[in-house]
Amino acid sequence: MKFCSECGSEVTKGIPEGDNRERHICTHCGIVHYQNPKMVTGTIPVWEDKVLLCRRAIEPRRGLWTLPAGFMENNESTQEGALRETLEEANARVCIEQLYTTFNLPLISQVYLLFRARLQSLDFHPGSESLEVALFREDEVPWEELAFPVVRETLKLFFTDRQAGQYVHRVGDIYWESRRSGEYQVTMLQEGC
Ligand code: ZN
Repeated sequence: MKFCSECGSEVTKGIPEGDNRERHICTHCGIVHYQNPKMVTGTIPVWEDKVLLCRRAIEPRRGLWTLPAGFMENNESTQEGALRETLEEANARVCIEQLYTTFNLPLISQVYLLFRARLQSLDFHPGSESLEVALFREDEVPWEELAFPVVRETLKLFFTDRQAGQYVHRVGDIYWESRRSGEYQVTMLQEGC
């Protein structure tokens, strides 16, 4: 951030009184511009024993497969955002069944909320952000061509739970040393202290 969104003057970095973190502060009007994590919301659309995935038409990770998800808009709920993204990316209508995974990505200040959802019909087709939309059984999932760790981890949990016949909401943190290597670490919240 270089300029104040309130008055257009330059901003400087500093710790406001009573705070303990560096913030962008306007040199003219003094307003403190707080920056907080972004929420990403989406669905795992399910049809019989298959899940719907979208092949990305946009960067980052163009050409790779993902679950329909995206940044929440102002003035909508997480469920509304998830339904909107599913409609935008796959032109698919779903019925939400459960908040399934919550993944924290502290290194990029994002939180993913993915809902398990039932696909209402086989009437779907790619939106402008997708090259292709398709249904995959577990053994058909393009595991090596998934766009994001959060998608891979959510799908792994989903198919394991599916086998067990019980879906449990889970919370996890994802970290990586270098995003280029593709390697990452996942820590799932263990219930209890
Ligand atoms: Zn200002």
